[in-house]
Amino acid sequence: MADERTDNARMVADQMAAEPLDVLVIGGGIVGSGVARDAAMRGLRTGLIEQYDFAWGTSSRSSRLLHGGLRYLAQGRVRLVREASVEKRIIHHIAPHVAEPLAFIFPSYRRSGWPLWQLRIGVKIYDLLCGGQNFGRSTALSRRALRDTLPGLTEERLSGAVRYFDGLTNDARLVIDTLRSAANHGALLENYCRFEGARRTHDGWVCDVHDTLADRPLTVETRCVVNAAGPWADRFEQSGVGLRLTKGVHLVIDRERLPVPDAVVMVDANRILFAIPWGERVILGTTDTDFDGHIEDVRCEDDDVHYILEIVNRSFPQAALVPGDVVGAWAGLRPLIAAAREGGARLPVTGETGTGVLPADKRGRPSDISRRHIIRQGEPGWWDVAGGKLTTYRLMGEQTVDRLLTYLHRKADPCRTAVEPLLPPVQVQGISGMLPPEVTRKVVEHYCRNEWAVHLADVMVRRTSWHHYRHDRSAVAEQVAGWMADLLGWDDERRAREMDSYKAL
Ligand SMILES: Cc1cc2nc3c(=O)[nH]c(=O)nc-3n(C[C@H](O)[C@H](O)[C@H](O)COP(=O)(O)OP(=O)(O)OC[C@H]3O[C@@H](n4cnc5c(N)ncnc54)[C@H](O)[C@@H]3O)c2cc1C
Repeated sequence: MADERTDNARMVADQMAAEPLDVLVIGGGIVGSGVARDAAMRGLRTGLIEQYDFAWGTSSRSSRLLHGGLRYLAQGRVRLVREASVEKRIIHHIAPHVAEPLAFIFPSYRRSGWPLWQLRIGVKIYDLLCGGQNFGRSTALSRRALRDTLPGLTEERLSGAVRYFDGLTNDARLVIDTLRSAANHGALLENYCRFEGARRTHDGWVCDVHDTLADRPLTVETRCVVNAAGPWADRFEQSGVGLRLTKGVHLVIDRERLPVPDAVVMVDANRILFAIPWGERVILGTTDTDFDGHIEDVRCEDDDVHYILEIVNRSFPQAALVPGDVVGAWAGLRPLIAAAREGGARLPVTGETGTGVLPADKRGRPSDISRRHIIRQGEPGWWDVAGGKLTTYRLMGEQTVDRLLTYLHRKADPCRTAVEPLLPPVQVQGISGMLPPEVTRKVVEHYCRNEWAVHLADVMVRRTSWHHYRHDRSAVAEQVAGWMADLLGWDDERRAREMDSYKAL
C-alpha cells in the first residue's frame, strides 16, 4: 500500500527512527497521550506510536465523565475519589473547551441499597474531597421538587434525591488535544504504527515498529519504553501487568425521547447507570461484563441494548424506549488491573490467589474491581502504566515522567501539566469541543492537515463524533469522503473502500 501520510507525518516517522529517543510511548490513548505531553514538556526527546488511529481504543468509548465516582466512595475507595476529584478540576482548568460542569440527580428509592440519608452524607463528603471546590454545591431534593425537575420519573418507593456535580468531557477530543499539545512541545507522534517487539541494549531498547500506512518496518532506539497500551498492555513479552477486561456499552438517543435537564443516576442492584444529556441527545450507559473475546472486535450486542433500555424504562416508564430509538452506540473495554508480575512470577492483586487466576465465577463482580492505576518498572527502562481512568490521566502522566527522570538521572523543571492550558483558544475554536462541530470542508481539512486523520472513520468517529450524533451520518460520510479524496488524493476505488469500511462500523 502506498504511504498515505501527509509529507509532514512521514517526516516525523523518519525523525523518530533517525536519532535515539529518551522515551518511546506505546499507545495513543489518553494514558499514552498524557505521558507524552508531560515528557515533552519536561524536555525529554519523546516519541509515541499508536497501532490504529489515536484514541481508537478505550479512550473514545467511555462514559465521558470527569468524576471522582460516588460509587467508589460507597466502596470506601476514598483516596481514588480524592485523586480523581482534584483531577477533574484540573482538566476543567487546562481544557475548558472539553470539560464542562454537569449536575447529577440521584433519586433514592426505599430498599434500593442507596438510602437517602447515606446519599446526603455521601455528596457532602464528595464536595469536601474536591477541597470544597466542586463545580457546584450538592443539595437535597424533595419528592415534590423531583416531580418538577424530572417529570416521568417513577415515584413508587421514591424517598427523594440528591443533586451533585461532576464534569463531562469529550474523550476522543481530550486525547487528540493532549497530543496536539505534546506535538507543540516537540513530541514525535505517529498513528497507524505498531510496536512489534523490543530488545534490551546496554543503555536502552531497540524497538521494532511497523508503519502500516507505508507498509515498512522501522527500528527505533530509545532509553526508556512506556507501555500505555490499555487493554493490550499485558500482551508484550516485557509486560508485568495482568488485566481483567470488562466490556461497557453506551447508547445514544434523542433528547426529546428523554428530556432530562441534568444527568440522572439509575440503580440496578449494586450497579449504577447514567442518562447523560449531550446537546440534542442523551447518552445512556453503561454495562459492565467480563470480556474474553477478540479485543479488536468489541461490539454492542442486542442483550446490551435491552439491558440498558430496561433499566431506563424502569426509571422512566412513560419513555417506553425501544431499540429503534437508538441513534448511536459504542462499546469499549476497561483495562482493569487484575495482577502484577514480579520477575516473571504473577503477584496476586485483585481476584487472584497466589497460585493462579481464579475462575470467572470466583473473581468477584466486575463493578467491584478497583479503578486504581499502577506504574511499575518491570525490566530496566521498561514501564507499564495501566488501569486508572480518563479523569486521572494527567496524574498518571506526571507520576510516570517523575520516575523516568529519576531513572535517567535527568534534572528537569517541575511538572507544568496541571497549570498550562492544553491549547490556546484560537486552536480549538470551531474545531474541538463538547459537541460535534459543523460539517464543513474547512474543519475536515484541519483534521487531515493538523490532526493526523487518514481514514474516513478517523474524522467521523474520533475527531468529530458525527458518527454517534448525526441522524444523517451516511450523507455526512459521503460528503466528508469527497473532501478527503480531494485533500488526500484518493482515487474512486480508495474512496469506495473508505465508505465500505466506514459502513462496516
Ligand atoms: C465503558 C467505559 C466507560 C468508562 N467511563 C469512564 C468515565 O466516564 N470517566 C473516566 O474517567 N474513565 C472512564 N473509563 C475508563 C477510561 O476510559 C480508561 O481508563 C482509559 O480510556 C484507558 O486509556 P488507555 O490509554 O489506558 O487505553 P486505550 O485508550 O485503549 O489506549 C491504548 C492504545 O494502545 C494502542 N496499542 C495497543 N497495542 C499497541 C501496539 N502493539 N503498538 C501501538 N499501539 C498499540 C491501542 O490501539 C490503543 O489505542 C471508562 C471505560 C469504559 C470501558
